[in-house]
Amino acid sequence: MKLAKTPKKEDNAAAALRGVTLSLPKFQEMLGTLIAEPSVSCTCPDFDQGNLKVIAHLAGWLEGLGFAVETLPLPDNPGKGNLIATLGAGEGGLVLAGHTDTVPFDEQAWSLDPLAMTDQEHRFYGLGACDMKGFFPVALSAAATFAQAKLRAPLMVVATCDEETSMAGGRFLLKSGRPRAEAAIIGEPTGLHPVYAHKGYMLISIQLQGTSGHSSNPEAGHNALDAMQAVMAELMRFRKELAERHRNPQFNIAAPTLNLGCMRAGDNPNRVCGHAELQIDLRLLPGMDADVIVQALCARIEDIAQAQGTPATLAPLHPPVPPFGSAENGALVQLLCKASGNRATTVNFGTEAHFYQSLGLETAVFGPGSIDQAHQPDEFLAQDQILPAQNALESAITHYCL
Ligand SMILES: [Zn+2]
Repeated sequence: MKLAKTPKKEDNAAAALRGVTLSLPKFQEMLGTLIAEPSVSCTCPDFDQGNLKVIAHLAGWLEGLGFAVETLPLPDNPGKGNLIATLGAGEGGLVLAGHTDTVPFDEQAWSLDPLAMTDQEHRFYGLGACDMKGFFPVALSAAATFAQAKLRAPLMVVATCDEETSMAGGRFLLKSGRPRAEAAIIGEPTGLHPVYAHKGYMLISIQLQGTSGHSSNPEAGHNALDAMQAVMAELMRFRKELAERHRNPQFNIAAPTLNLGCMRAGDNPNRVCGHAELQIDLRLLPGMDADVIVQALCARIEDIAQAQGTPATLAPLHPPVPPFGSAENGALVQLLCKASGNRATTVNFGTEAHFYQSLGLETAVFGPGSIDQAHQPDEFLAQDQILPAQNALESAITHYCL
């Protein structure tokens, strides 16, 4: 594929000389503002926060670049919303996409203020610096290069909410049938490696309701722990079967995984255990259908529960994150490989890629920073990732929009 040349950058002073006012704050100012605006999303309502203030900052900066900006509040989810900003018009074009929420943080574990950007050791520290508030100033800086250009297809910036929990923002995009474009780059921290596939994941709670009684007469009750060990044995058989049937050597862990993560059961050693809950994590490969797998799991657990006299309930702890798979030699992935000088790869973390792909956009995950620093105390974005990321995005904008 031939890469079109990125137009020479025009600084604000040159634009001003031509009588055009282009206003975008400095990179550090934007990143500092975004980090200082807390937008934790958390399954625990006590810690959950909205993201509309983050979106308002982005909207203001994007308007300054001439984008038409829409804020789309999530129905039944007060304080949360998505942003779709568009420069230019017409069919096709490119979406630069990211989420505005962060995971919760443990302030004690941070050596720096998580809600203030610290510029130190060639790194920008702060909550969300790499996952993924840092992507937006990069995307906006790339967009600014084209603010005066005549685009043949639109350039869009999309910012979502609740990616770290329910993916409600991504789901809402899919439901609303937007955005429409030719391609989407999701700027999650991949260390500037274009990512063409990732596993999906779901967290499931399995509950068994037994009947308690005096431990001296086990026959008087139905022991939920006894039943749970049968369920666990079945889960391990199921895991083995999944691994035998499904393999994808493009992943460093080539098989789907099923992890028995935690269990709570019973209350006293001298009582027949009346209730047990096991939580599992299931990570499926691209092409595997979560609904089909869960139905198969339900049927097998139901058989055991009936035989043991301990009714079972299976419930997802949040809606499943679907796997994402595209071609390693797809046009967008190859463009990003060329632009970044890095090889395409797969990752083991989930993103919103499935939603954009389902909307018909050719999708890749590609962004600055390392996932090793995400969801960690003293999260940071390495500064040497920023310009290469911006240059790669500019190549993509040139290809899809100019
Ligand atoms: Zn993320």
